[in-house]
Amino acid sequence: MNPDPVAAIEVYVVTLVQEKPYLGSLRPGETVNENGYFVRHGNQTVYPRTNRSLVVRILTHDGVEGWGETYGLVAPKATAEIINDLLAGFVIGRDPIDRESVHDELYNLMRVRGHTGGFYVDALAAIDIALWDIAGKRTGRSVAGLLGGQQRESIPAYVSGLPEDTLTQRCELALSWRERGFDAVKFASPVADQGPVQEIQSLRQELGEEMRIACDLHWAYSPDEAIELAKAMAPFSPWFLEAPVATEDIEGLRRVVEQSGQRIAAGEEWRTVYEAGHRIDRGAIHIIQPEMGHTGITQFMRIGRYAEAHGIQIIPHATIGSGIFLAASLQASAALASTASHEFQHSIFEPFRYFTGDALICENGAYTVCGVPGIGVEPSTEMRKCMQAV
Ligand code: MG
Repeated sequence: MNPDPVAAIEVYVVTLVQEKPYLGSLRPGETVNENGYFVRHGNQTVYPRTNRSLVVRILTHDGVEGWGETYGLVAPKATAEIINDLLAGFVIGRDPIDRESVHDELYNLMRVRGHTGGFYVDALAAIDIALWDIAGKRTGRSVAGLLGGQQRESIPAYVSGLPEDTLTQRCELALSWRERGFDAVKFASPVADQGPVQEIQSLRQELGEEMRIACDLHWAYSPDEAIELAKAMAPFSPWFLEAPVATEDIEGLRRVVEQSGQRIAAGEEWRTVYEAGHRIDRGAIHIIQPEMGHTGITQFMRIGRYAEAHGIQIIPHATIGSGIFLAASLQASAALASTASHEFQHSIFEPFRYFTGDALICENGAYTVCGVPGIGVEPSTEMRKCMQAV
């Protein structure tokens, strides 16, 4: 195959306007500041009132087009500037077939300055996904095909977040998803107004014994608090508990794994196999949740394969985005034998089905994995109206 180097990189902020904020209405005392951000009191985390994502389009000299995406929720222009000012100059002229070595070279450029995560690695993720997309299109293979082959035609999906204002409404929403063929849900402790124990008790009562119910603890507890909470939730059989303690507290996470009696999931905020490896090596995790928007395909697969080799289950995270990194996540997840399920952000996915083709389908409790070349999606005319070049 003749080389077909990268000719241009374009970066776009995509605005994803939602009536209700992610995780539901703002609670008393939560207000949007002049830059459009607010802090959830339940987890002291900042969210934008209007969701955004950062999309990258890479073009080759022969006109092959690749799409990538990374987090754009907070300060998206910071990541855009890293791509435009720094990374583009090292990607233009490279052959996308060499996507993994390009990724490693870009990562190495800023290692000694401590940029081994954060906005820098997010920028790498967007470029990485777009290069894999081009590699797939040039070889006529889906990304799963390039990764060694699609191991399944569908991936079980769990319904994430129940963005309603009262527990009764959240139970009704969960019930409506069960009626649509989904057998697993996850609720978020920061917006469980009567506390996570009451939340899971009510959900269990409404949904019955068969439904799997996970709880996202949003890093909000000390190890001792998380262990106590896990024991209080035990009678209601949680499927897994997610992110119980601060991300820096690896020893605390290990202690929760050891003493809580529950299956512990984590990893949506990690970007590389190095970060995942520190936890896996110490037995500080049962289920890993790689997020494609942070990892890109290259690091997602390294994390996934490291997890598989250590007997860790993979249940990828799905963050707020346009759907490009979700499509990439499904491709990579389909290439890993240990993928048990995949998050389904219905409140994001359903309003923003902005794609040509049928690569993103989630029905009857499962995603369908698409076999067309590349990641399988590209923005529709409608989505392009929401994209602003930066
Ligand atoms: Mg989470």
